Amino acid sequence: MNLQAKAVHTPPLGLYLHVPFCARACDFCNFYQEAPRRAELDRYLAGIERELQLRPIERPVDTVFWGGGTPSLLAAKDLERLGNAVLGALPQAPEEWTIEMAPSTVKADKLAVLRELGVNRISMGVQSFDPVLLDRLGRSHLPKQVYHAIDLIRAAGFENLNLDLIFAVPGQTLEAWEADLREALRQEPQHLSTYCLTFEEDTALWVKLQKGQTTKLSIEDESDYYTRAWEVLGEAGLPQYEISNFARPGFACRHNLNTWAMHEWLAYGPSASGQFGGRRWTNAANIDQWLEGVESGQMAEQEIVLLTAESMLADALVFGLRMNAGVDLEELQGCFGVPLPSTVAGLFRDLVEEGLMVQEGPRVALTLEGRLLADRIATAILEAL
Ligand code: SF4
Repeated sequence: MNLQAKAVHTPPLGLYLHVPFCARACDFCNFYQEAPRRAELDRYLAGIERELQLRPIERPVDTVFWGGGTPSLLAAKDLERLGNAVLGALPQAPEEWTIEMAPSTVKADKLAVLRELGVNRISMGVQSFDPVLLDRLGRSHLPKQVYHAIDLIRAAGFENLNLDLIFAVPGQTLEAWEADLREALRQEPQHLSTYCLTFEEDTALWVKLQKGQTTKLSIEDESDYYTRAWEVLGEAGLPQYEISNFARPGFACRHNLNTWAMHEWLAYGPSASGQFGGRRWTNAANIDQWLEGVESGQMAEQEIVLLTAESMLADALVFGLRMNAGVDLEELQGCFGVPLPSTVAGLFRDLVEEGLMVQEGPRVALTLEGRLLADRIATAILEAL
């Protein structure tokens, strides 16, 4: 069944905007990025203004998320231009507006502009408070820049701060990971995201791994790092709501909740992915190709997928089960208008028997052991469909 043919209630709408500039590539990162040259920045800003005209926004947007890249590399006047372009395209101001910031790029004049625009959530890529681990990750900031950035963010009046941390870094002990968690907690963020280091192909860390110059933890050892974080953060009043995400009550990231529930979000900028009107797409991950598409009015969209009710149900299950609250099977079936295949119901019965899932009425959720195996369970769900 094609979703375009099905009358559904109006779901929340998000807007993702990708700013593809980084001062340098971190050793673990394979995101699309460009060096921030003035001419490229100007072409990019003009391209976004054009793209916003080409994809008019006809209903209120609940959440805006500026990701990258490093959106905070933009100068205050560029952030202002970008923000005004977005606001000019929206029927009304969003309720949640997040910007990703790198510690070394946080400046008072940028924060003042962001506050004025209505940005109300800052997500900062700290990764670690340990200078040795930061160096191993190829990050270009020092711990003292993190503390200074947090002071500036608080002084500017932002009350919703997320810090990103990375664990299972080569040479990082469990004790060092706990020290990072406790140092992050001392900063009193409303939200923490913790990511297990992955060795993405063609990154500097991946090359080192291939040459035997670094090592990778086993999946069993990684589990210890996951559970240590879950214990420490839970005890500190920052409960887990998704495998990688922890928040004080009321501070879960609404933009991400919207995407994990398979609602709709628009996408602007090179390499941004969107889901809207029964289709999913990714803009060209190349500023020239993206601009060519925008300037010609023929958007350079790639990896276009026409969504079916069955594929949406599958994705909502996979992403929903990563959340501690799990999913309401009756609600999902009603939302997408298709029944849960008997193969998936059988798989869920097996997971309950193995202690990896709990079921209460129509709601199913993974147990702690199940969340540690979420990737394998996701594969099993997709195979069962
Ligand atoms: S981790 Fe962030 S700052 Fe580092 S290269 Fe990737 S996108 Fe840029």
